[in-house]
Amino acid sequence: MTATAANASPVAVLGGTFNPIHNGHLRSALELVELLGLERLHLMPCANPPHRQAPGCPAESRADMVERAVAGEARLVCDRRELARSGPSWTVDSLAGLRDEYGPERSLGLVMGCDALLGLERWHRWQALLDYAHIIVIARPGWHLPGAGTVAEWLAQHRMADPDALRARPAGGVLVLELRPLAISSTEIRALCRAGRSARYLLPEPVLDYIETHELYRGTADDN
Ligand code: ATP
Repeated sequence: MTATAANASPVAVLGGTFNPIHNGHLRSALELVELLGLERLHLMPCANPPHRQAPGCPAESRADMVERAVAGEARLVCDRRELARSGPSWTVDSLAGLRDEYGPERSLGLVMGCDALLGLERWHRWQALLDYAHIIVIARPGWHLPGAGTVAEWLAQHRMADPDALRARPAGGVLVLELRPLAISSTEIRALCRAGRSARYLLPEPVLDYIETHELYRGTADDN
């Protein structure tokens, strides 16, 4: 192992539909950067979500909003790699790409909320995720860790005790963190926009401006 890569700060990626990105995502992202001493956190919009209805809002627009949200915070970057691929946006493929870019020794983390963890078994090649990265699970209001079943057993097998363990190896562990809970969801923001009510202060002002300029989230619940 070269001293440079082994000693370098970890990097991580937070994927999501970001439809739209909001202050819950951003506050968690920043807290992760500081808590884990990350060099960089990639915010990666999902182009074609395999496990949920395709968002009516195009991936390009969702990525543009992420770009605007992180402008001025160099430790957060918008990662458009899933927009460049066709077909379902498998996370494991994105992790393989990040692993290639950062090399085999850099500690790499995939961030997901508890809600995503509960559905992990349905992810394409889910057990290979740990070959490429650690998984960092964020506790979210109203959600609990799986208590029984395959994912619960997998969690018990791979769980790391504290954030320092993230630096000890490049991949392979699961870290569960509790961050400041901000009860904000994209669903709620879309509903406010549809109802003609203000979503101000739930998301950054440049994102709100983008939504207004491009008249996003004005349609029915089914085409958001
Ligand atoms: P939707 O309401 O459309 O389901 P969402 O607000 O949950 O969207 P996503 O883009 O699906 O946002 O979330 C991306 C990631 O961010 C997921 O891992 C999710 O658990 C996490 N996340 C979403 N909202 C918050 C929040 N308020 N605080 C911390 N993490 C969040």
